[in-house]
Amino acid sequence: MDKAARNCGPNGCGQGESRRPEVLPPNKASEIKHVLGVMSGKGGVGKSSVSALLAVALRRRGYEVGIMDADITGPSIPKIFGLVDRPEQFERFVLPVRSLSGIKVMSVNLLLTREDEPVIWRGPILAGAVRQFWTDVAWGQLDYLIVDMPPGTGDVPLTVMQQLPLEGMVIVSSPQDLAMMVVKKAINMARLAEVPILGLVENMSYLVCPHCHRDVYPFGKSHVVEAASDNGLRVLAVLPVDEKLVELSDAGRIEEYEGVALEKLTPVVEAVEKMSGGSPS
Ligand code: ADP
Repeated sequence: MDKAARNCGPNGCGQGESRRPEVLPPNKASEIKHVLGVMSGKGGVGKSSVSALLAVALRRRGYEVGIMDADITGPSIPKIFGLVDRPEQFERFVLPVRSLSGIKVMSVNLLLTREDEPVIWRGPILAGAVRQFWTDVAWGQLDYLIVDMPPGTGDVPLTVMQQLPLEGMVIVSSPQDLAMMVVKKAINMARLAEVPILGLVENMSYLVCPHCHRDVYPFGKSHVVEAASDNGLRVLAVLPVDEKLVELSDAGRIEEYEGVALEKLTPVVEAVEKMSGGSPS
């Protein structure tokens, strides 16, 4: 891991280490111990689901957790958590909305009058909105802020990566990713922004046949192990397709999920705790 990147935390980079000069300082209404990004090379692979499950797992371990839904054009975090309340204002800040278990969420969907309203903004405005989720939201005290990153490897995710004090990045892929080419782009981008990568998560990798109970690989052979070893990274988790996860996500009740995907995410939770030397506050 790069020394300069390791010294960058929510309060900026360490003394004399200015290789991430664009990192924004925290606002006075937020005390965030650790900021973690979840990214993917393309949309639809389950980045938001993994962000949400990770938040649920950390919350169950007793941490104060927030999710910044930085996937501005496809914001799904409020829906997954069943959140409909509009954020309130406090002085010059906007307050995140709390989920049933107490996870704090900020998303552009909470600010729109209708949740199906499309967000048709150009790159700089999108990056500006994410920046405001950092500068203008009163997050309060958080052990972990999980940033559900804008999808892909374009200009917007790069700007976000450079401006938020991300301490670690989890990269989510699915077996359909063209021989891992898109994942490699994501890895290279995180490295370019000097954000340490905690490891890879392959989502929707297999499903368990309800009849013979064997694992079935509908999308063919996975390349995640190969991509991880080629890049000196760990595969933290391989998650199955789970009908229950979709059902609960669609119903806004992901916090009730107890299934195998959560169990399989344990190494990710442990990697996050290790990154931060964490214990519940
Ligand atoms: P992304 O954030 O990468 O665009 P999402 O997390 O929104 O992807 O997931 C896309 C769709 O796939 C959603 O309908 C979600 O419920 C579903 N999904 C994600 N992960 C799984 C899984 N492991 N099993 C079944 N469905 C999943």
